[in-house]
Amino acid sequence: MTSLASLRPRLPSPLQEIEDDRFTRYGIRLVLKRDDLIHPELVGNKWRKLAPNLTAAAGRTVLTFGGAYSNHLRATAAAGRLLGLTTVGVVRGQELAGRPLNASLARCAADGMRLHFVDRSTYRRKTEPKTLAAVLRAAGVEDAYIVPEGGSNALAVRECRELGEELRGHADVVGVPCGTGGTLAGLAAGLGPGHRVLGVPVLKGGFLNGDIQALQHQAFGGPRGTWSLDERFHFGGYARTTPELDAFAEDFESRHDLPVERLYVAKSLYGLAALAKEGHFAPGTTVAAVITGRPWGQAARR
Ligand SMILES: *Cc1c(COP(=O)(O)O)cnc(C)c1O
Repeated sequence: MTSLASLRPRLPSPLQEIEDDRFTRYGIRLVLKRDDLIHPELVGNKWRKLAPNLTAAAGRTVLTFGGAYSNHLRATAAAGRLLGLTTVGVVRGQELAGRPLNASLARCAADGMRLHFVDRSTYRRKTEPKTLAAVLRAAGVEDAYIVPEGGSNALAVRECRELGEELRGHADVVGVPCGTGGTLAGLAAGLGPGHRVLGVPVLKGGFLNGDIQALQHQAFGGPRGTWSLDERFHFGGYARTTPELDAFAEDFESRHDLPVERLYVAKSLYGLAALAKEGHFAPGTTVAAVITGRPWGQAARR
């Protein structure tokens, strides 16, 4: 297996101040934490979460889980190709088997990932030992290092502390989009006193507070840092959008020459702008927005 260091991640990721009147008008400084520039293929927080797991896998087959358009599956598949690791992706949706692969899954397959499709009820129970054993057998995998959906386990959460450490002294409030919440759980732990994290869940449901507490418990043995979630900016749920969100993202892209990833990043930037307008941040506050990834299929711009 090739070493991770040979992939030359850009760490710490760049910090970039931008002028945006939706913030400056209220006396707020906005800085972008460009995790989207860490690596061209293992983008953003996926690098941070996968790196310690790939090291722990130590050359074993890596098996993980995701939906048909999962950023995490693509990052894992790319890592497999770059590092010479065998990867298996367990994909939600039995009905996808035997059909032409969508572009995201085709990319995974081209990177050498073996895809195994399971029905939705099996997928929901995938962490139960009995179900997992059956999935491994059906996928023809004897020994594998298992990475959970979204890559958020204790190793990943501990690694995401580094994101917080890189931001110490550079921001009062850090905004981050949340899927599983693993990135936020680590970020909050690394940030240090006097700073706080504001998470924007992109899934509907309101279950994330408990999930993040559980992740911090697994990773650190208890709660860490100051964080809160604002549940108002999911725009209907995962991968859902509205004309208003699209217009906001397009406008942000053209103003700042930043490719705005739509599933996560657009929602958190929109949420931060809305909070600024509501007077949530005192004048003089520096807000850092973590750019956790970039639109898929679009080259990185700097
Ligand atoms: C996966 C992903 C997230 C979600 O990270 P979690 O640690 O699961 O909360 C956020 N942004 C982007 C761009 C992602 O690909």
